Amino acid sequence: TRDYEPESDETNIHVVVRCRGRNDREVRENSGVVLSTEGVKGKFVELSMGPSALSNKTYNFDKVFSPAADQAMIYEDVVAPILSEMLAGYNCTIFAYGQTGTGKTYTMSGDMSDSFGLLSDSAGIIPRVLHSLFAKLEGEETESSVKCSFIELYNEDLRDLLAADESTKLKIFDDNKKGHSSTIVQGMEETHIKTAADGINLLQNGSYKRQVAATKCNDLSSRSHTVFTVTVYIKQPSETGDDFVSAGKLNLVDLAGSENIQRSGAENKRAAEAGLINKSLLTLGRVINALVDKNSHIPYRESKLTRLLQDSLGGHTKTCIIATVSPAKSNLEETISTLDYAFRAK
Ligand code: ADP
Ligand code: MG
Repeated sequence: TRDYEPESDETNIHVVVRCRGRNDREVRENSGVVLSTEGVKGKFVELSMGPSALSNKTYNFDKVFSPAADQAMIYEDVVAPILSEMLAGYNCTIFAYGQTGTGKTYTMSGDMSDSFGLLSDSAGIIPRVLHSLFAKLEGEETESSVKCSFIELYNEDLRDLLAADESTKLKIFDDNKKGHSSTIVQGMEETHIKTAADGINLLQNGSYKRQVAATKCNDLSSRSHTVFTVTVYIKQPSETGDDFVSAGKLNLVDLAGSENIQRSGAENKRAAEAGLINKSLLTLGRVINALVDKNSHIPYRESKLTRLLQDSLGGHTKTCIIATVSPAKSNLEETISTLDYAFRAK
């Protein structure tokens, strides 16, 4: 087997923003709308910071989606092109980044029900990826196989959401055969799936386990990251007769709430040592900034999340960050922090 080598080595990081509508609480508390976009889908987002329009702050991103943008639009505009890259052999990652309650899980998973092969309108990225992946593979003559893994990272401990006993901690090692660009997670379940429904089942079961654990541990759901990975192997007949297998990987990452690095200040060393700052979230920002600045040293090794995703960040890879935000005045501080973090990744 040989890995597919794309021609270009440029690092591609796309950053998009998704704003949800005001929730019941924000409406009840009369928290005004301080965020505006250009139509359903544009490139700019403006925050009104005070009584005068002069103090407004405008950001520009690859795409900005208003509350009117639905799950299907996010999929078509942001995710479908990445699925094509994955099928061409790239390792790709999509992150949902934002304050707790702004729609990361809604965007990544959304409604996971799958009745007789039909997705709900509220289905998020993962169920839609599984559906279109299998629809594409079924239309191909070539042989292929698909596998999934689903893990959770909390306080730098890795747990397998597909394992029968998810309390066992997983360990990460460097994959020496492939040099230092790749890691192995020892004992991680990698389940072969034959249909989209098989994959959605894994997502549902893993998410359920996570929910059960979150009711026992208050901050688990806001402080943990989940990574759902789909890997596809496609047999490519070659002219010399020896077929090779191209592998593409797509990591779908529902990150910890961004307030976990912002409230105490990203550079506050004492807060970091006290565990108040999420190490993986902080390191992810540094890794992305180092990639964008084309630094020679990328600090992958400084957190579990970035070690885990090392072969999918930088080099021949595609990355998209979906920053989720609230439009309400009561969340303005966190929204500014989220947009600043996302803007630095551009
Ligand atoms: P997070 O994972 O960022 O903490 P959630 O995805 O759980 O946030 O979203 C919080 C609530 O808001 C959920 O009830 C979710 O269904 C709803 N929600 C979030 N974004 C949207 C959206 N774009 N459209 C409709 N409902 C949304
Ligand atoms: Mg969530």
